[in-house]
This record gives sequence, C-alpha cells and structure tokens, in this order.
Amino acid sequence: QVPLKPGRSLMDWIRLTKSGKDLTGLKGRLIEVTEDELAKHNKKEDCWICLRGFVYNVTPYMEYHPGGEDELMKAAGTDGTDLFDQVHRWVNYESMLKECLVGRMAVKPIMAPKGECHSPAVWCHEASATESLTDLVSFLTVNVCVFCACVCLLYSYDWFQTDSSITVVLYTKQKDMNEELVIVDCQDKRLRAEIIVDDHSYLVEVDLNHAVQEDLTVTIVERVRKVEIVLKKKENIHWKALGQPLESHNTFIRRTDRGLFYRKCKLVSKTEVTHDTKLFSFMLPKSTHLRVPTGHHVYLKQIVAGTEVVKPYTPVLPCLPLDFKEPPCHAGAQIHFMIKIYSCGLFTQALDHLQIGDSISLSSPEGNFKKSQIGSSEDLFLLAAGTGFTPMVKLLNLALTEVSCLRTVKLIFFNKTEGDILWRKQLEQLALKDERLELQLVLSQPAKDWVGKQGKISAPLLSEFVKRSRKDSKVLICICGPAPFTDQGVQYLKDLGYSQEEIHAFTA
Ligand code: FAD
Ligand code: NAD
Repeated sequence: QVPLKPGRSLMDWIRLTKSGKDLTGLKGRLIEVTEDELAKHNKKEDCWICLRGFVYNVTPYMEYHPGGEDELMKAAGTDGTDLFDQVHRWVNYESMLKECLVGRMAVKPIMAPKGECHSPAVWCHEASATESLTDLVSFLTVNVCVFCACVCLLYSYDWFQTDSSITVVLYTKQKDMNEELVIVDCQDKRLRAEIIVDDHSYLVEVDLNHAVQEDLTVTIVERVRKVEIVLKKKENIHWKALGQPLESHNTFIRRTDRGLFYRKCKLVSKTEVTHDTKLFSFMLPKSTHLRVPTGHHVYLKQIVAGTEVVKPYTPVLPCLPLDFKEPPCHAGAQIHFMIKIYSCGLFTQALDHLQIGDSISLSSPEGNFKKSQIGSSEDLFLLAAGTGFTPMVKLLNLALTEVSCLRTVKLIFFNKTEGDILWRKQLEQLALKDERLELQLVLSQPAKDWVGKQGKISAPLLSEFVKRSRKDSKVLICICGPAPFTDQGVQYLKDLGYSQEEIHAFTA
C-alpha cells in the first residue's frame, strides 16, 4: 500500500469511471491485441496490462492504484495475471477496470482462472466473430459477402458471472443505440439476443448450460455502445461455459433471412373502442425485452381451426396521453393493439374469442419507417382510414413530444360513420390541449345530421388539407388505410407536387 494523493481514492476512481471520459483512448472500441502490440505499451504514460486474456489501459488508473505506480509498472506491456493473482486475486478488477478495457489478446494466454477463484465476478471467454484471422478467412471462403464479414468484425459478445448472475455483453459499435434496437428472449434455457442494424442484425443464440430465472434485465450503455443482459442463475453454481451455440449464433445477416421469431404473450385485457373495434393488451414474458418502434408492426400467430394463421398488427399506446411526460405504467411489459373484428374475419373472430389469460404468439417487429424521417419535419400530415389510424397513434406521440421544429400536425381521419371513429374524444381533447394539432374528420357514409366533411379521399380534398404552413417548410405525409385508399392517396399527393421522400405509405 502506498499513500495516495488527495483526490485519488477509490471513490474518486469510481467517479472518474462513471464520468463518461474515454479511459482507453479508443472511444469505446474494443480491439484484438497481439503480444507485440501489448509489449509496445510499457510506459507510465502508455501502459497496457493483460489480465486473464483481457487487455486494460491502466495509465489513467496509475495514481489510484493502492499498491502504487511501481507495482503496476512491473506488469507493464505484459501478461500480469500471475502477478495479480499473487497480490490480490480477490480484487474485482473486471468491474474496477471495466472502462479501461482495450480488448482481448489475439491468442488467449489463459482460458479460465487458475485454482479456486475468490473474485465475485469471473470473465469467461467465448468464441466470437473477431476471434482470429483464421476464423475470418473461413468466413470469407464460405462465400459470405464481404460487407457482412466486415460489419461482423464490429460486433462481438462476451459474458461473465457472479455467484448469482450471468451477464452477457454485446458490443455493438452502433451509434444511437437505443432500447428498440435490442430484442432479447430467454425461454427454456434458450437465450436469443438480437441487435438490429438497419436491415441487418447481429444475433447471439445459445442453449444455456444451466437454468436461469424467468426475469432478465437489459441495459444499454450508450456511451460505449454495448448492451448488458443480466440473467439470474437458478442455482448458485459456477458455470464453465455459457452454453451450446445454436445454428444462427454469432451471425450478422439480413433480418429478412432470419425468419420470424415468436414468443407467447398472455392476453391481460380486452376493452371496447367502438362497436366493432377492441383494444387488446398482451403481457410480454418476463424473459423478453422487446420495444416496437414507431410505425412498425408485428405479426400475431394463432392456430385457427387446426391451422397456423399469421396476420400483421400495429401496436398502439394504451391511450393518447394528454401530458406526454410520464411513460404509462407497464411501459415495455405490455403491448397494445387496436383491432377491428370483422364478422367473417378468420383471424379477428378467433382473436375475439380469446379469454383473459389465453396466449398468442407475437413476432419481433418489422417495418421500414424511420424516426429520422420525422425528425426535422415542420409540417406533419397524417392521412388515416379506419384502423389505418393505428400507426398514427405512436407517430402523434413522437411528433408532439420529440420533434422540436414541428409547427403543425394535421390528422385527416376517414371513416364510414361517426360510430367508427376510433378514440374520437381523446383526439378532440388532444387537439384542444395542443394547438399544433388539427383534426379533420371525413365520413364516407355519414348520417343526415353530420355537419363535417363527407366523401372519400380525393384530389380536391387533399389540396385543401395538405398545405405547407410556409412556402419552403419541411413536410412529411404519412398515409395508412385500405390498400385502394393508400394507393389513391399517394397518387393524388404526387399529382399535387409532393416528392417520394415527403410521403410515407404504411403497407405490409
Ligand atoms: P379475413 O378472414 O382475412 O377477411 C374476412 C373479411 O373481413 C373480408 O372478406 C373483408 O370483408 C373483411 N376484411 C378482412 N381484412 C380486411 C381489410 N384489411 N380491410 C377491409 N376489410 C377486411 N388491422 C387492425 O384491426 N388493427 C391493426 O393494427 C392492423 N395493423 C395492420 C398492419 C399491417 C402492416 C397490415 C398489412 C394490416 C393490418 N391490419 C390491422 C389488418 C389485419 O392484418 C387483418 O387484415 C385484419 O385483422 C383482418 O383479418 P381477418 O383474418 O379477421 O379477416
Ligand atoms: P373501412 O372499411 O371501415 O373504411 C374506412 C375508410 O376508408 C372509408 O370510410 C373510406 O373513406 C376509406 N376507404 C375504404 N375503402 C376505400 C376504397 N376502396 N377507396 C378509397 N377509400 C376507401 O376500413 P377498415 O375496415 O378499418 O380497414 C382499414 C384498413 O387499413 C385495412 O385494410 C387494414 O389492413 C389497413 N391497415 C394497414 C396497416 C398498415 O399497413 N400498416 C395498419 C392498420 C390497418
């Protein structure tokens, strides 16, 4: 032990590690380190040390090391595992030096801790796409496209354990990582963790070595672009390996090539919205992390008359929040759908017969709407017909809460009769509350006393409603409804001079 300078206590070190400062000099990037490379970093001002196959840049830690700088320098540029084990094997360096992690040794010097380990967390090594050059060569020779191989190099995973938990870490290298880009499921010891990267995805899929508890937590460490999945062990035993890799494990491929993945969700409530439309709320399993992005849909699957039937549905919010500050309780755990029950509809009839507590299979999200499309809009026009209103729910929420440059939002809602208008009261309240929102209701089969607009989508109607608030204002027009409605609408908009980029049509 050496006396540490003021401001160099363990607490100070922890504060520094949480400050967001780049302590490796690599901006969160993890690299493979050869022995030659390691040896080059052997000076106080540039000191790397290998511990159990992982390389840390300990320069920022020098002044905080209770054993003093000289002690640390004994291992500079080398594998310090033995030295470390002699002095303080019990120290949880993995978490202490987490922010100093440079990467992994290209050739693993030690596979597992020697002898009994007193450290509460033990890093374990798993093969990853970045493992070795040989892996990369075989990768390419099996004719996987070069693009995928290169991108895959950026994605990898690792895991470590404590007595009671397993943490799987996915390194993403992806800017703007957020909850919607991570889908995790753990059922019957099968762990599946997917990171969405535009139209591709990176997948970790293993049959776990031991049982885990039902609930899991997912944390996105945006600053270093990694995702941590914490699973709780069922038994406090030491795992020798994470598990057996499954077929698609550690792959980076097009999402469409993966096939749809389903998990079972329980119906928790079913409430009337109109005479033929209901709000169905399903509970995601505790072992699932899934957030459906705005404008995306999922597939529901159920056995109808002995056959598996699949139909797409667009999740909505449980209601249109009037103050958008607080996320609704159960946000994330429940998923809500507004579904019209057709009297002769195959799927919707079966859905309507589901009892509370019954299960349905729900896929991972799909869709091509991007948040960035709305990000810089000044005028947003939403054209919805019937249940084509469903994608507009989250869009409204997003626009009114997150789009700072937005001046106007116009929702033009086409329905047959007044009784068909979904969430009319809520929409009218919202329009009263937020002056940016304007609501236009158009009925195709109105009652005699209807004083509002009538008819179906048409060029004159659109030319009146869809007008830029300023000559050059940035516009986004979203349209959703029955296919003929959408097709006609897009054509009218183009005829009115709106460009392809300014129009987003929701289709299957
Ligand atoms: P089917 O057995 O296929 O049809 C039986 C009868 O019902 C038809 O003869 C017709 O009279 C009527 N019918 C069926 N489908 C339609 C239709 N699409 N338009 C008009 N009449 C029809 N629906 C929702 O209620 N909520 C949603 O959030 C939703 N999201 C969707 C998202 C996407 C991307 C797409 C493509 C569709 C979405 N739909 C939504 C429609 C949904 O997928 C089904 O088509 C609908 O629920 C009917 O299924 P069904 O098996 O009951 O009807
Ligand atoms: P609906 O039959 O009650 O009709 C609602 C309004 O749509 C009508 O009042 C009319 O104005 C317009 N409309 C209907 N048919 C038209 C046509 N042939 N030409 C022009 N306008 C027409 O609507 P619904 O039963 O609620 O059906 C909603 C539709 O939206 C379904 O087809 C559903 O598949 C689709 N939908 C698509 C998505 C998506 O692609 N993301 C999401 C949700 C719903």
